[in-house]
Amino acid sequence: MKKTTFLKRKMREASFISRALLSSRHPVLAHLIPMRRCNLACGYCNEYDRTSKPVDLAIIKSRLDKLADLGTSVVTISGGEPMMHPELDQIIHHIRQRGMIAGLISNGYYFTPERIKRLNKAGLEYLQISIDNVEPDEVSRKSLRVLDKKLRHLSEHADFHVNINSVIGGGIKNPEDALTVARRAVELGFSTTVGVIHDGDGTLKPLSKKEKDIFQEVKKMGNKDHARLNWFQDSIAEGKPYNWRCRAGARYLYICEDGKVHWCSQQRGYPGIPLEQYTMEDFDREYKTEKWCAPTCTLQCVHQVGILDNWRDPQKTPAQIAQEQKNGKRVGEMIGAD
Ligand code: SF4
Ligand code: SF4
Repeated sequence: MKKTTFLKRKMREASFISRALLSSRHPVLAHLIPMRRCNLACGYCNEYDRTSKPVDLAIIKSRLDKLADLGTSVVTISGGEPMMHPELDQIIHHIRQRGMIAGLISNGYYFTPERIKRLNKAGLEYLQISIDNVEPDEVSRKSLRVLDKKLRHLSEHADFHVNINSVIGGGIKNPEDALTVARRAVELGFSTTVGVIHDGDGTLKPLSKKEKDIFQEVKKMGNKDHARLNWFQDSIAEGKPYNWRCRAGARYLYICEDGKVHWCSQQRGYPGIPLEQYTMEDFDREYKTEKWCAPTCTLQCVHQVGILDNWRDPQKTPAQIAQEQKNGKRVGEMIGAD
């Protein structure tokens, strides 16, 4: 990556972080889904289908315009597999034109030199690829052996930042694979993070001694900024709940392929309001709402966004907020009656 591109990116990062610290009334990060379809079928995934069509470019642009109008700092395109969207370059270009930071999450299968150069030109700034194992198995084909050639192309041609995420826990067969993946990422000049995942049945169990040792080693090799932001993982690794304030629906938005706002990929359905109708009133309600799923949540990006406001604005349960709204309404009705 060119030194000027690197410096420009760092300055943009610094400016969005200071803006987020100065004001809590805009979204920091939005995940936008331009298509649900995926070329893979990972055994643990509930975020893909095999048949859906790409969302129209004009519709995506109008969703991006609404995110920009809400003051969103970063838009990350996710899926399914977003590289299958035929107009991905125009989507990225539009994010940049509207002054937002452009990120992409992909399974890595489509990165040819020509495709990488087109993404450079479109203005992509961040890419994350998750690699689950070294050899493909019946659960996941997001494997180092299959993807190594693509990683080499990225190392050679990408002007954007590349982060490789490995995973540990959740009954992953060979925990040492996380170490092999992280070492290869560092060797190729990428940053690396590690995700701690729940057991297959969704329960919070401590990592085994061997998994914990590998987790600590991978963390040491990783991006220092990410390590500093991922304290929650130490609790999850110990099988303990973590106390934090999830700002999903406000500072973090998940926009599905139908254009509705959800808390996150794992809590789809609520609030379920179309983005075009989303107001600052919705934003404020979700900002204040305590999420029941927060203590065991492992979604790194939402945790990182949460850190920006963890020190301010305590949250309330949905029942408390509903009661307050009811009380407020009653006062309003009394004033109206008077
Ligand atoms: S590559 Fe990603 S979106 Fe596709 S099935 Fe696997 S985890 Fe799901
Ligand atoms: S706590 Fe985690 S799972 Fe729950 S809404 Fe927030 S991000 Fe989603």
